Amino acid sequence: MDKKVFDIIIIGAGPAGVSASLYAKRANKDVLVLYHGVSQLEKAHKIDNFYGFPNGIEGAQLYRNGIIQMINLGVEVEEKEVLGVEMNADGTYTVTTKEDGFVATAVIFATGNKKIRPNIKGVKEFEGRGISYCAICDGFFYRDKNVAVLGNGDYALSEASELKNIAKSVTVFTNGLPAPETEFSVVTEKISEIKGEMKVGFIVLENGEEMPIDGVFIAQGVAGGADFAKKLGVKADGDRIVTDEKMQTNLKGVFACGDLTGDLYQVSKAVCDGAKAGLAVVEYIKNLTDKE
Ligand SMILES: Cc1cc2nc3c(=O)[nH]c(=O)nc-3n(C[C@H](O)[C@H](O)[C@H](O)COP(=O)(O)OP(=O)(O)OC[C@H]3O[C@@H](n4cnc5c(N)ncnc54)[C@H](O)[C@@H]3O)c2cc1C
Repeated sequence: MDKKVFDIIIIGAGPAGVSASLYAKRANKDVLVLYHGVSQLEKAHKIDNFYGFPNGIEGAQLYRNGIIQMINLGVEVEEKEVLGVEMNADGTYTVTTKEDGFVATAVIFATGNKKIRPNIKGVKEFEGRGISYCAICDGFFYRDKNVAVLGNGDYALSEASELKNIAKSVTVFTNGLPAPETEFSVVTEKISEIKGEMKVGFIVLENGEEMPIDGVFIAQGVAGGADFAKKLGVKADGDRIVTDEKMQTNLKGVFACGDLTGDLYQVSKAVCDGAKAGLAVVEYIKNLTDKE
């Protein structure tokens, strides 16, 4: 049986993703929203500067309200971590989660902007000199070298898989958390420090052991939207996805909105971006249909 093709898949259920879904669904589009992991909004204790809440509102409550609102409107919503997005030969997109692949005519990235920097001595100091947050972006620099992936979930394993055909060796460090089942060698002893001269040279474990390593890829939490957008070929400026004024990226049918596009890290801006992306994606699909 052929796979269902959604009109639009939105990745992320924060203010940007929800707002986009409301506009797209109200234009009668078949919308799927996938979300997983913590939104920036949930971290906000209280939002005091958003229109219509004279006494403020807890970030987590506003986040839940948004999800309920889109479900009530009939948007299909699934709590699944997205690990990648690929373009198909017919111009549609497949959005991959651990268990499934979902196909859509257009995709909106609304994954927020979060880089989880582990509290390990040396990580901040060596960023850009052996510490990376994106295997697909920086893996090339570690051809035939020994690399480490720091993380313990599906995201860490997908980063390790990305590196396995490039690097000489890939070791997954879980920093004391349960080891995943994997083909890679896993170190569960906690890291006390990352050391080197001008760049990363070795990882020091809490038991005192020193392991020579050329590069460390941080893959904690869930896969970063910026990373798999870049892998798809979307233009980015650092961690910020570049869009035009309608939130369209350089790829046809791929839009981005909210914190992921940088500028103002505020709920109001994320909601506005989402509205623009929702409207633009509807127009994009209409133009495709008109051409047929
Ligand atoms: C402590 C704190 C306080 C703040 N205070 C304020 C304030 O007072 N006022 C204000 O206006 N703003 C405030 N902000 C900023 C505001 O929360 C953000 O600007 C806003 O939440 C951005 O919305 P977004 O939809 O772009 O991203 P987010 O809210 O971060 O949502 C991202 C969504 O993407 C999903 N996601 C991410 N990766 C994946 C993946 N791989 N697969 C599937 N889903 C994924 C997440 O689960 C989430 O649903 C604060 C932020 C923080 C951290």
